[in-house]
Amino acid sequence: MLSVARVHAFADNFIWMVHNGREAVCVDPGDARPVLSYLSETQQRLAGILLTHWHGDHQGGVEDLKAAYPDAWVRGSKKRLKGPSVPLAEGDVIDVLGASFEVLEVPGHTLDHIALVSESPLFPTPVAFTGDTLFAGGCGRLFEGTAEQMFESLNKLNQWPETTQVYCAHEYTEANLKFAVACEPDNAATQERLTHVSAMRSRGEATVPSTLLLERQTNPFLRSESSHVLADRRLQKDHF
Ligand code: ZN
Ligand code: FE
Repeated sequence: MLSVARVHAFADNFIWMVHNGREAVCVDPGDARPVLSYLSETQQRLAGILLTHWHGDHQGGVEDLKAAYPDAWVRGSKKRLKGPSVPLAEGDVIDVLGASFEVLEVPGHTLDHIALVSESPLFPTPVAFTGDTLFAGGCGRLFEGTAEQMFESLNKLNQWPETTQVYCAHEYTEANLKFAVACEPDNAATQERLTHVSAMRSRGEATVPSTLLLERQTNPFLRSESSHVLADRRLQKDHF
């Protein structure tokens, strides 16, 4: 069986560690130090690095991790990455510690953004690494892509089972849900989730992973019925 461990970086980044107790693969290591600490604390070695997009807070640790683990592979989105890498594209299937992951191209936040999804029986439920595309209660800002692209990217992720665990790259949930409540004031599930998430945050707890079911019920971007609605909501959120 495989597990996914949470490593914190910077103010609000998550670095996810897929591991089997001996080896680990990290997703979006913006900083090497917390990853190296995690590996030494759990006495595991780094087998590989996965990168969802080119932003520094997702790739900044690659060189230091490669220096410490020269055999670790690096795979990620097509934009030129730090260190040797094999670019991934839509439909590619990759092996991560025995689990197959499907690559989805999900442009919007950046043009190179990918997500990695697995329905491997090595996980208790399907898992999705969504980077800065689908957040708990929100979606990434449109730095490079269009609202149409983000709309399609979110719908692509939405094809997976409702039990899919959504592992995004930032703890933005509470702020996202405050906007979600303003956006859909009659959605009781959103209000309930905000109350729950605020209580978790006041206890210092992380609110990720989420599930695709919860996102379908409460995420105003995943719930947008058209790219026009999404564009409108994204613009409002940018100034919220
Ligand atoms: Zn980003
Ligand atoms: Fe980011």
